[in-house]
Amino acid sequence: MKQGRIIKVSGPLVVADNMAGARMYDVVRVGASGLLGEVIELRGDRASIQVYEETGGMGPGEYVQTTGQALSVELGPGLLRSIYDGIQRPLNVIRDLSGDYIARGVEVPGLDRQAIWHFVPKVKVGDQLVAGDIYGTVQETEIVEHRLMVAPGLKGEVIEIREAKCTVEEVVCRLKDGDQVHELTLFQRWPVRMGRPYATKHGPEIPLITGQRVIDAFFPIAKGGTACIPGPFGSGKTVVQHQLSKWADAEIIVFVGCGERGNEMTDVLLEFPHLEDPHTGKPLMDRTVLVANTSNMPVAAREASVYSGMAIAEYFRDMGYDVALMADSTSRWAEALREMSGRLEEMPGEEGYPAYLGSRTAEFYERSGRVTALGSDKRHGSLSAVGAVSPPGGDLSEPVTQATLRIVKVFWGLDASLADRRHFPAINWLRSYSLYLDRIDSWLRTNVGRDWPEMRGEAMGILQKEDELQEIVRLVGVDALSREDRMTLETAKSIREDFLHQNAFDDIDTYTSMAKQYRLLKVILGFNHEAHAALGRGADLDALLNLAVREDIARSKLIPEDNLEAFDALAEKVRQDIAGIVAAA
Ligand code: ADP
Repeated sequence: MKQGRIIKVSGPLVVADNMAGARMYDVVRVGASGLLGEVIELRGDRASIQVYEETGGMGPGEYVQTTGQALSVELGPGLLRSIYDGIQRPLNVIRDLSGDYIARGVEVPGLDRQAIWHFVPKVKVGDQLVAGDIYGTVQETEIVEHRLMVAPGLKGEVIEIREAKCTVEEVVCRLKDGDQVHELTLFQRWPVRMGRPYATKHGPEIPLITGQRVIDAFFPIAKGGTACIPGPFGSGKTVVQHQLSKWADAEIIVFVGCGERGNEMTDVLLEFPHLEDPHTGKPLMDRTVLVANTSNMPVAAREASVYSGMAIAEYFRDMGYDVALMADSTSRWAEALREMSGRLEEMPGEEGYPAYLGSRTAEFYERSGRVTALGSDKRHGSLSAVGAVSPPGGDLSEPVTQATLRIVKVFWGLDASLADRRHFPAINWLRSYSLYLDRIDSWLRTNVGRDWPEMRGEAMGILQKEDELQEIVRLVGVDALSREDRMTLETAKSIREDFLHQNAFDDIDTYTSMAKQYRLLKVILGFNHEAHAALGRGADLDALLNLAVREDIARSKLIPEDNLEAFDALAEKVRQDIAGIVAAA
């Protein structure tokens, strides 16, 4: 082990010399208390080190030891249900060890060394395995099977494998590769800053269904896709994130909380463990990993946390699962980057953020995707990434939001004024977008409805028309509008209130299948068509607007999923009632 010497301490940044031989991103132990740090700059034999723990009281002259290892996470059974800090220390364990204030230099493995798992082999002696092959499974929680994979870079013939009730450290399988023997346990390590390898990446052709109508119908995210959600306080960001965690058709959730203020994180830590998985009735934590930076951890740990979360998410993707990673908020991560860059005295870019803010942001989101994993069974997995940003004052032109929008393909523009009007989810339909529409429409036509993309286009068109018409109404009043335009305004209102508005706290409304979304939108647009046709044949506008069936449409979002035929009856009633008005005209 090499030893350097501290020559300067500046908050979470320590500069040491005599560090020849260290490499970028090597993990080091700093000072007498052995604080964990990572080399982030090398000049000659001088290294700048970001330290993940408070450096108070540390000074020049103390030693720095290199470990020759990159910052890594442990990947194996025990990840699910865990709440980690940014460098994968289980928060409950360090709290027990050191009280609520996390003691410095505490070393705790990411995976519990005492827990006993039941390993069931999936291969037999004589089998030839390659990297990514699943050699066995462990039922990690009641709802998730953990698949143990030959680590990237390894291969060989199985010369020994056994069923076992064992800890993560026990050897359960031996592979012979030439004259080498690899011993496989229940876990592997992976350097967090490096994307885990896969065989091939696929295009974003399948939507990640969330059951949230404004998202699925108007601004869908693809499986393996990326999205950004800015969250002015009180606009419903937390509810959207919880709804996605509960309802999105992803099997595994990784939630990275980079809160700055302690209370932002406490919310996550307190709320998440109480969420119920609606599919199984079990705690949502049974398929969730939380990475949380508490307020008493220095900025550097926040910088690392998004990578720790990403590596864990990739690992479950490699097992063949659909994984959703949520990071809240990446603005706090970027601020950590800015602070470290400032201390390194790098040339500042816009608003003090380093010039590499954009490339770092891109590198992060580019680790998402739908892939064929390594391994001979060619299984598919996906990693979708949703990043929340918290632009100061809601100003989307600030650098972090801009860097994010250049990369992600979906923008869910949460809008404080919609939230004020109690329109939830407060996703602004005029400002939001999804760049996946072209790619996933073919899937949607096959699986939702042949005319679904056209229905979406028509509904969006009506909402845009409403925006124009409202401008006219503001200037000259509603009487200036034609009967057709007034009908359009009413339909727009119906799309907003009966379709887009969705109550997360109502048992039925909280989730809408694609089949129901299709029928619901169909009946709203159907009324619009029939009504416009009726106007053309001289029907009375007020009579149309006063039809009782409009009430039925408004209530139809509460039709249960197992009674979707009710929409057929509703559509028939619309036709009959409007025909009645035409006949009376
Ligand atoms: P933020 O995290 O942006 O500060 P929250 O997600 O906590 O905001 O939402 C604030 C409040 O708005 C919630 O407590 C809830 O009353 C309401 N709300 C948000 N989204 C919805 C929704 N989809 N359905 C019903 N109410 C909602």
